[in-house]
Amino acid sequence: MSANCYYRVAVPSPVRRLFDYLPAETAETELIPGTRVVVPYGKRKVIGVVVEKTTHSDFKPAQLKAIEQVLDQQLPKDEPLLPADLLELGLWAADYYQHPVGEALAGILPTLLRKGKELPIAAPTHWQLSTHAKGLPETALSKAKRQQQALGLLREHGKVSNADFKAQGISRSILNTLKDKGLAEEVCIEAAILEATVDEAKVAESASISDELLAEPSLALRPEQHNALTAIELHGYHPYLLHGDTGSGKTEVYMQAIEKVLRYGRQALVLIPEISLTPQTLGRFERRFNCTIAVLHSGLTELERCKAWNQARTGTAAIVIGTRSAVFVPLLKPGIIIVDEEHDASFKQQDGFRYSARDVAVMRANRSGIPLLLGSATPSLESLYNCQRERYALLRLSKRSGTALAAQWQKIDLRDSKLNSGFSAAAIQAIKTALAADGQVLVFLNRRGYAPALICHHCGWNALCRHCDTRLTTHLSRSRLICHHCEYQQAIPNICPDCQSPELIFLGQGTEQSEATLEALFPDTPIIRVDRDTTRRKHAVRDMVSEVNKGEPCILVGTQMLAKGHHFPRVTLAVILNADDGLFSTDFRGAERMGQLLTQVAGRAGRGDHPGTVLLQSHHCDHPLITLLIERGYSAFAEQLLDDRAAAHMPPFRTLALLRAESENPEHAEALLRRARQLCEQLSVNAAVYALGPLPAPLEKRAGRYRYQLTLKAEHRNHLQQVLRQLSVLLETEKLGRKVRWSVDMDPQEML
Ligand code: ADP
Ligand code: ZN
Ligand code: ZN
Repeated sequence: MSANCYYRVAVPSPVRRLFDYLPAETAETELIPGTRVVVPYGKRKVIGVVVEKTTHSDFKPAQLKAIEQVLDQQLPKDEPLLPADLLELGLWAADYYQHPVGEALAGILPTLLRKGKELPIAAPTHWQLSTHAKGLPETALSKAKRQQQALGLLREHGKVSNADFKAQGISRSILNTLKDKGLAEEVCIEAAILEATVDEAKVAESASISDELLAEPSLALRPEQHNALTAIELHGYHPYLLHGDTGSGKTEVYMQAIEKVLRYGRQALVLIPEISLTPQTLGRFERRFNCTIAVLHSGLTELERCKAWNQARTGTAAIVIGTRSAVFVPLLKPGIIIVDEEHDASFKQQDGFRYSARDVAVMRANRSGIPLLLGSATPSLESLYNCQRERYALLRLSKRSGTALAAQWQKIDLRDSKLNSGFSAAAIQAIKTALAADGQVLVFLNRRGYAPALICHHCGWNALCRHCDTRLTTHLSRSRLICHHCEYQQAIPNICPDCQSPELIFLGQGTEQSEATLEALFPDTPIIRVDRDTTRRKHAVRDMVSEVNKGEPCILVGTQMLAKGHHFPRVTLAVILNADDGLFSTDFRGAERMGQLLTQVAGRAGRGDHPGTVLLQSHHCDHPLITLLIERGYSAFAEQLLDDRAAAHMPPFRTLALLRAESENPEHAEALLRRARQLCEQLSVNAAVYALGPLPAPLEKRAGRYRYQLTLKAEHRNHLQQVLRQLSVLLETEKLGRKVRWSVDMDPQEML
């Protein structure tokens, strides 16, 4: 190694920079970016990722420490664990989201790899002759017997695995020598299969007949689907928004676009929200395609996750389906990225490395030069705005497939109406009628537990969380009061702790209560509750779906889990218990989320060939947004919201970032943000970045910490980025900055 050789390593630490290390003393070969190394950091040894090799360091060699150990040595030496495109994407995302780079890169690795474990399976590599070697006479290399023998085996068998070579006594280093001489090359067998289909002429011929790639023929597309599919350009970066109602056939369009991509020998990455990665969804892909599908979601063991990740990396998996973090999966030959339900808030990570998988997907497709397909029945305002500005091409599927009719909305005014645990008499009557006609009913309310508040009727005492500024939710089924923000729990008291009165009363309704009410009203009908409490068990959702799909009349009652992903063809009535929360939310996205949720719930009613009805209970039935949504539909509703956002100078017309700070001492958190505001005002040239706050967060105290936020807003993303970059570094050096937990939330989704 030459004297002037350093490696810049991303080390998992809250410090926002790379660290220089000397090469390992034992190192024979040069390390390539994307390789994991063990390095000394402070008093610890940590696992970092090599980002670049350089000949210059700001430090003298004597001040630097050496890399202790190089990992990933079972990989071919020109093949890093993190391929260059992914490493760069990770670096970009760390910078964009202003997250410490080492933590960000560690965060995109599966846990086992982050902890320093080797890849659980060696890539299934084989060897073959290079074109050059094919021209050599058989007597070549007669002085190197082993090498000659290896060439002979390759000549005879075409492809030979590592294991077979080993059985013949030929070691890896002999093969590496052949590789260095340009005589042999390593190939991944499965990747080779993928490659074998790259024949564009054949693609045109083999239109839609079932063949090795397809296990079942694809459906004949309806004209709108056909137009959407043919509009999708497969070569180069082309972003699309596929806006189609629930059941309009988006998934079929995805699958046929994927089919084309696979025929070009490339891989497809499909991102979906956690909640909609159902066995049903997966089953559709598995029934259609003969190829390997890697699935990545939070229910996997660490080993399973690592294997799936590697299948994507080596190209063994032609299709990768996963939730948020899958956007950072390495792909040997990326061909298309699809983000289903692109509006879903779960694509944004809400703590630590706060990236948006949808937005990273856009950047990734752009950098890889491949098409991007965002799909939704209720697109985000950001994506609709990108269509207006012609950044994305809008593809529209308006008709429902088959004979299903669009659902009919009916409003029920709650003012002065008599309620039975939140149900109006009209709603109860409608449920009766639907059940009598052999239909299934869906009841939606966005609150789990029995009741969101427990109070003393005598003195007004409130059951509050002792760590957060919030009420405890009563969970009768577990006989506990539980905090939905910090998981704190306690027994339900029998008497008021303040005045000893036994008259404690529940206020408001949660899903448990609606379930109990429905059980009392409809004792002969199965009631199925679907929320985070009932779906904890591993196969709970699957069992629930198969129960419903038997088709017998039943009532489903649940939270937004019900509104997403599932196909319930026999639901003829959906009841929205209370539409008011979204109308008066403190979050500027409240109305958008409400419109999306209501539209998604409505989309569940009347699938298949049964027309559906949606009952909407509200104290504000005449609210113009509700009227707009149900009379003119989601597109008109979204257009109105966009106008409102433009007038209010809010996203997507401005870029927002939140600087969050939390501390056991509220003054520290606030003081740090006041300092941040000062710095921001100094850094922001011509006041291009506008600061608001610091203000207490809407949930001021959580898990024992006081939380403050400073809102930063700019017309141009770049201005905000520039300021944040410098601001983060300055805050790191502030004394308070080390005492207070602070973080940057770029493009925040929830203002909590
Ligand atoms: P989305 O993803 O928009 O909710 P899907 O792709 O799931 O819609 O389609 C809804 C239903 O319609 C599915 O059962 C699907 O098999 C069926 N379907 C979609 N496209 C067609 C088509 N071209 N011909 C017949 N059935 C179709
Ligand atoms: Zn009391
Ligand atoms: Zn709490």
